[in-house]
Amino acid sequence: MKEKTITLPKLKKVRIRGYRKLQKLPGRILNATIKQVGYKYYVSVCVEEELEIPVMSEKRAIGIDVGVKNMVVTSNGEYYKNADFLKKYERRIKGYQQELSRRKKGSKNYNKTLKKIEELYRKLKNARKKYLEEVVSKILKGKEIILVERLKVKEMLSKENNPKSVRKSISNVSFQTILQTIEYKCKWSGKTFHQISTYYPSSQICSECGYKDATMKDYGKREYICPVCKTKIERDYNASRNILQEGLRELKIAA
Ligand SMILES: [Zn+2]
Repeated sequence: MKEKTITLPKLKKVRIRGYRKLQKLPGRILNATIKQVGYKYYVSVCVEEELEIPVMSEKRAIGIDVGVKNMVVTSNGEYYKNADFLKKYERRIKGYQQELSRRKKGSKNYNKTLKKIEELYRKLKNARKKYLEEVVSKILKGKEIILVERLKVKEMLSKENNPKSVRKSISNVSFQTILQTIEYKCKWSGKTFHQISTYYPSSQICSECGYKDATMKDYGKREYICPVCKTKIERDYNASRNILQEGLRELKIAA
C-alpha cells in the first residue's frame, strides 16, 4: 500500500482516495474486501496486530455522558459538541429537497436532483462518522477503563421530560451511534468497556456528596446546585463524574 494507491491481486495498482493514512496500518495484512456503494467503491483492509493487555487502574478510567445539548462530556471536564460544519450539508440537502418538490416526478431534472441529494447524504454520513471517530479516539487516548450509561435511561428521560426540545437534526450523531463507536474502539484496542446499570440516575445525584435531587429529571435544568454541600456544577459534567464513580463501583475497582 502506498499513499495514493493500493495493489490488489488481479486488479494490480488501483488509485485510492480517503482520509486514512493507509500506509501506516499496524501489523500484517490478512486480506482486503471491496464493496460498492452507489457508484463508489470502498476497500476494507484486515490486519493482524498483537496488543498488550492493559492493567486495570482507577487512574486510567473515564466516565462519559452522552447527550443532546453536548454530544459527549467526560469526567475530565472535556466537552464535545455535534459538529457545526455538518449543518452545511443539512442546509444543502433541504435546498435540493425543495427543488425536487418543484420538479416533475420521473423527469430528467427530477432524477438529477435526486442524485445530488443522495450524494450529499452519503457525504454527510461519512463526514459525521469521521468526526465522531476522531472525537472518540481523542477521549480514549491513554485510558484503559471506559464507563458509559446504557441507552435506555437517556431515551426514557428525553421522552418523558423533553418531548419537544430534543432536536431531530440529521447532522446530529445519535446516542446509539456514539455508544457503538466507543464500544468498538474499546474492543479494538483491548480497553475495558462497561455500561452502568440501566436505572442509575446519573443526572440526579450530586457527584460531590452523593445527595439525590429528583427534580433534576427536568432536562431544562442545566446546572446541578446541591442544597447539601453547595456544589454548583454543569449538568452533563456532573453526570459523567457519577458514571465514572458508579462504573468503578460496579467493576469493584473502587469503593
Ligand atoms: Zn452535594
